[in-house]
Amino acid sequence: MRTSKFTIFIRTTVIVFIIYMMLAWAWNSMTNTNFWKPSEMAISAVLTVLLFGGFAWAITNFGMGLIYGRSQQYDAYRRGGGDPYFDSLPWPLNPDSRQVRETGMAEPRTSFVPPASWKFQCPVCGARQPTRICVCWNCDYGSNGDSSEYFQKFGNSKPPEISEQDWAEIRSRHDA
Ligand SMILES: [Zn+2]
Repeated sequence: MRTSKFTIFIRTTVIVFIIYMMLAWAWNSMTNTNFWKPSEMAISAVLTVLLFGGFAWAITNFGMGLIYGRSQQYDAYRRGGGDPYFDSLPWPLNPDSRQVRETGMAEPRTSFVPPASWKFQCPVCGARQPTRICVCWNCDYGSNGDSSEYFQKFGNSKPPEISEQDWAEIRSRHDA
C-alpha cells in the first residue's frame, strides 16, 4: 500500500517546521532577539505546505492529465490509487519504494531476490517479474493460463515488453 497522503502531508509539514525553527534560531542568536514562537512557526509550516504543495499538486495532476489523459496505462495507474504528484515526492517526504509508487503493491519478502532487470510486478502478489504477464515464480499466478487479474489491474492495453504475437494469444485466451 502507498503511504497515505495525510501521512506525507504530516511528514512534509514537520520537516518544513524544523527548517523554520532552525532559521528562527539562527536569526535570533545572530541578532540577539526573540522572534517567532514555535506555535507561529508551526502555523507557517502548515500554510506553506498547503499553499506550495497544493499548487504543485494541482499543476502536476492537470499537466499529467493533459499529456496522458487518454493513455490506458495512466488510467489504470490512476484507478489503482496512483497520484503523479505524491508518487514523485522524494524520501523523506514519501518513503515508498519504486514498486509501491508505480502499482501500490509492495514486493513480498522472499528468499529469492529477483534480478534488477525484472521491473514488472505480479498483479496478485507483487513479486517482481521480467514481463507483466508470465507465470509468477512466487505465487504461481498465470500457470493455469488465466490472466484476468492483469486485465482488471492494468486494463486492455498491451504491455510494451510483450510481443504482438504473444499479446494476441493472451487476449484471445482472456476473451474466451
Ligand atoms: Zn505472484
